[in-house]
Amino acid sequence: MSEHNCIFCKIVKGEIPSRKIHEDDDFYAFHDIHPAAPVHALVIPKRHIETLSACGDADAPLLGKMMVLTARLAEQLGCAYTGGETGFRTAINVGPNGGQEVYHLHAHILGGPRPWSRM
Ligand code: 5GP
Ligand code: ZN
Repeated sequence: MSEHNCIFCKIVKGEIPSRKIHEDDDFYAFHDIHPAAPVHALVIPKRHIETLSACGDADAPLLGKMMVLTARLAEQLGCAYTGGETGFRTAINVGPNGGQEVYHLHAHILGGPRPWSRM
């Protein structure tokens, strides 16, 4: 999928509405439209990268920042693990057998009281 018909690129540009959680120069985060848990957010790079398997060494700084941002946003969403009860799951689905449906790299943040419906 090219960036021209990518729904997540359209979300970044505001062409498709989303419930925004965070935006900075490199990243955009928003609530998943079909939440699989009480908290379900997606963190994406603004740059169109199709999938984790397309990443190389040059992407390491961006991917590192994305992981740290994921932890900060989980905190903002009330899911941080600080030794007490709460916690979250982060996942990057890669390719058909990895369950990837949208081919613009994204990290899921899932949290809140279990059980969750999927993932
Ligand atoms: P994947 O299976 O590719 O890892 O996850 C794609 C996620 O994007 C799914 O959880 C799906 O619900 C979410 N999603 C797909 N289209 C949209 C959309 O237009 N808006 C939002 N907010 N989420 C979407
Ligand atoms: Zn895209």
